[in-house]
Amino acid sequence: MRTEETVVTSTITILNATTLSASPLRDILHEVEKNLRCSVSLQKHSLDIEKTFDTSRGQYYSTAILTQVMKRAPVSTKCVALVDVDVFIPVLSFVFGEAQFGGNATVVSTHRLCNQFYGMPADESLHVQRIAKEIIHELGHTYGLYHCRNFECVMRSSTYVEDIDLKKSSLCNECWQLFEILSLNNLKKNE
Ligand SMILES: [Zn+2]
Ligand SMILES: [Zn+2]
Repeated sequence: MRTEETVVTSTITILNATTLSASPLRDILHEVEKNLRCSVSLQKHSLDIEKTFDTSRGQYYSTAILTQVMKRAPVSTKCVALVDVDVFIPVLSFVFGEAQFGGNATVVSTHRLCNQFYGMPADESLHVQRIAKEIIHELGHTYGLYHCRNFECVMRSSTYVEDIDLKKSSLCNECWQLFEILSLNNLKKNE
């Protein structure tokens, strides 16, 4: 059972490579901290995003960004590269994000998470919610969580932005229990 007393102490670093302003970034950080009960810090990035551009697709190669993050991520932290370019992996037309399963690094793209991409009016609060959900989801993979079939769980897989809107920002009870064990193991591993 999920209790308010549970505190998982682990550090997450977000490498911000977007043009998002301080206010939405603060809200995103707060959402991630609240749902994973971890401390999250924001850092300027030193990623070479342009190097990952694929001229034939006109998109950026997600795995190449992930590799750069893996090289920079300190062993004891989980590192999220937050980018605003459109990212892909070869078998899919696009991805919202990619994670190193059970590892330290993840990439999340805000590109397809804003309403304007779909020709709809801007909605900052919705944008923040979607980005936070994607970050929490990808971080879940880095801790070793698989996709969940629970309709509301943040670990449910999302193909379209509507799928992201349908789920919550939180882990379901089952995923939370697993997350607690996995994050403790992660802490021990890094001691
Ligand atoms: Zn996933
Ligand atoms: Zn779940």
